[in-house]
Amino acid sequence: MTFAASSESWFERARRVIPGGVNSPVRAFNSVGGTPRFMVCGEAAYLYDVDGNSYVDLICSWGPLLLGHAYPAVVDALIQATQRGTSFGATTPCEVELVEEICARLPAVEQLRLVSSGTEATMSALRLARGYTGRPIVLKFAGCYHGHSDALLAAAGSGAATLGIPGSAGVTAGSTADTLVLPYNDLDAVRAAFARHGAQIAAVITEAAAANMGVVAPLHGFNAALRQLCDFHGALLIIDEVLTGFRVSPTGWFGLEGVAADLFTFGKVMGGGLPAAAFGGRAEVMAQLAPLGPVYQAGTLSGNPLACAAGLATLRHADADVYRRIDDTAAQLRGLICSALDAAGVAYQLGRAGNLFSVFFTDREVLDFATAQTTRDDVYAAFFHAMLDRGVYLPPSPYEAWFVSAAHDADALQRIADAAPAAATAAAAIAG
Ligand SMILES: *Cc1c(COP(=O)(O)O)cnc(C)c1O
Repeated sequence: MTFAASSESWFERARRVIPGGVNSPVRAFNSVGGTPRFMVCGEAAYLYDVDGNSYVDLICSWGPLLLGHAYPAVVDALIQATQRGTSFGATTPCEVELVEEICARLPAVEQLRLVSSGTEATMSALRLARGYTGRPIVLKFAGCYHGHSDALLAAAGSGAATLGIPGSAGVTAGSTADTLVLPYNDLDAVRAAFARHGAQIAAVITEAAAANMGVVAPLHGFNAALRQLCDFHGALLIIDEVLTGFRVSPTGWFGLEGVAADLFTFGKVMGGGLPAAAFGGRAEVMAQLAPLGPVYQAGTLSGNPLACAAGLATLRHADADVYRRIDDTAAQLRGLICSALDAAGVAYQLGRAGNLFSVFFTDREVLDFATAQTTRDDVYAAFFHAMLDRGVYLPPSPYEAWFVSAAHDADALQRIADAAPAAATAAAAIAG
């Protein structure tokens, strides 16, 4: 495939008509500098840009592409679904099958409502928790990202962390007045908040394992203690598995830790690269949703047939062997990155949660957002560009997880292994 124009000239065109040239901020390369690459094609573990370069993709669309780009069974399912029509505005069998697949994987999810983005899933779960409990306050953790709805955009991670924006302009004090932000992994802070506001707290929302301030695993017992505190005070526990769900195990982070939420949120992998997300949990709570109950929630394209077909095909092909391969590839990748950084003598911390990981260029132990922010952006930028120049596409921000797919094979790992020593040397040169 050849395109006359370069990434440079496409970016120039894009910036004229799209703010910053991108439709999601982190894509703009602001924190690493340089020109974002315009992609034209993805195949298995590789991405191809308009300039004719290929990259081993360690973003995988920020998580969804568990099986790699253009996985044949997913493409086939999409072609067949498309030929039957793209959207009906009525319920379809595929929606029921997708929800059944998810409920079968996670018995704590008795019922599920489909939406089109993780943002909608968490926003709706929060509204439901407030409607169910009749209470206003939500506890969230600094650096945890739950999409960009107003109430949850207080001290959020992901793109907001990358830009160093604490909340966002345009979010009124009123819309975050009932959002209490606490340090991640700090149970004393959670206990103190419950002691003070207990009867007003509708829900605690947390990422199953934080992966939007870089990867910061919950300390042993943290999620279980949240479960106990919520039970004691009559609040709901919302565990956001939009990123971890169906990625770190067949049953997401729940499968690794076993802490059941009242409400879970899902997205990314469950849409197989198309816009599908969901929230669900205890049937008694879900019964408060319209049309059964008083909590309103809706969506023109919710349960879209193409998104459901891609998601269902992805989950049906994500068997034990797929997860074993992804775990194994992630372990090899961690090993070769760490040995390159060790050899170059650059200070770093590996953040890790299951098969997800990221690299912090700091010598501080990373437990929460404050310690995550001690990572050196300039060192990451040097590492990132040296890898990019050698055909490896890392997240263009130190605050994002690195993703592999079942399509990442020995050749892909070899290309990364060949690139890593020079990138580690480039990082060490900046770190000084
Ligand atoms: C990506 C993400 C979201 C938001 O999902 P979108 O589909 O981008 O709206 C919410 N929560 C977590 C944990 C995420 O990683």
